[in-house]
Amino acid sequence: MNRRNFAKVSALALASTRVPSFAQSSAAEKPLGFAPVGLGTISNIFMRACAASRSAKITALVTGHPEEKGEKYAAMYGIPKSSIYTYEEYERLAENKDVDAVYIGLPNSMHCEYTVRAAKMGKHVLCEKPMAISSAQCRTMIDACQQANVKLMIAYRIQYDPTWIQGIQIIKDGGIGELESFQGGFFNRQPAGAWRLTRKLGGGGSVLDVGIYPLNAIRHITGEEPANYTAVVATRDHSGRFAQVEQSVEWTMKLPSGIIASCGSSYGQDGPSFLIINGSNGYLQFEPAFMYDGIHLTGHAAGKVIDVVGTGKLPFQFTLEADYFAECVRNNKQPESGGEEGLKDLLAIEAIYRAAGAPIA
Ligand code: NAD
Repeated sequence: MNRRNFAKVSALALASTRVPSFAQSSAAEKPLGFAPVGLGTISNIFMRACAASRSAKITALVTGHPEEKGEKYAAMYGIPKSSIYTYEEYERLAENKDVDAVYIGLPNSMHCEYTVRAAKMGKHVLCEKPMAISSAQCRTMIDACQQANVKLMIAYRIQYDPTWIQGIQIIKDGGIGELESFQGGFFNRQPAGAWRLTRKLGGGGSVLDVGIYPLNAIRHITGEEPANYTAVVATRDHSGRFAQVEQSVEWTMKLPSGIIASCGSSYGQDGPSFLIINGSNGYLQFEPAFMYDGIHLTGHAAGKVIDVVGTGKLPFQFTLEADYFAECVRNNKQPESGGEEGLKDLLAIEAIYRAAGAPIA
């Protein structure tokens, strides 16, 4: 690993290890107030995560279903009915002093609009991945948050997982020698009619949603921006489920240092989530790599057999993530995974689709 990469990995590992200490030391301070926007699967998990946090709290809700989901979650988390907002009432969050930040848990194509509108209200933004559906939208979001002087962080929860941090530490310590190559993937199945299978809401196929995990991990570990892409897309299921986005993608990329990577993702395959990291003198494998808990790290490093299974339970990655974001806001610190990181992932995703001859933007 060259000096730049070593320094980057070191900084990331240190940043991540600060997260739990903040959670413990901040009990006396007022928690950061979050309004989740869109109360679907991921916001549900995020709300549970904040309930387990001492530095983050749910203080308002933004939903298209105020009487059903709104009132249900308000009762669960002790939120006054007056702090339930519809999407049309979103701008009223500006008057709510208990809301410091929004958590964007909406379909991908809505991230940009709701981030820009939050920034205009002076609210900080923790936005789910993918940051947006194009690099142009990412730039709009970065500009809006910079102009409003609010923090913008993309929710790459894996970066807070202790098993991942341990693996990165092994690499940083030279345990597998020079990094040489990666193989990674994330494969799942989406049912017909899912918003993820539409261009309008998903923005593209599985790379945006799940392929982004190995992509972001490789960028995060190396500190390098990939180039030299090859890619293929394929759809074998002709039932109409994949009328708008491809079923599966495989791609390769080369990093400026010469490290090579081979990755895949799918919305129509039952497969694992994994990342293999091959070094000149050892290797690491995460499998499952990108799940909410139970990350399993194996390999051979510094002459030792590695076998670690994460013990934290859902929603702990999200609690660590929320704590870290709260720390950034409180200390006026730029989040490690700010808008620029989301933008770089989108630039890579656009390059992958271009290489496959199936551009998304
Ligand atoms: P979901 O379908 O469960 O929830 C989406 C929410 O948006 C729902 O509450 C829905 O009512 C609302 N919504 C508002 N307008 C909508 C519209 N026009 N069409 C559809 N829904 C609309 O989705 P999800 O799985 O929670 O994903 C939301 C975001 O979170 C996505 O960007 C996804 O990539 C991301 N995500 C991240 C993780 C992670 O582990 N970090 C996991 C899952 C999803």
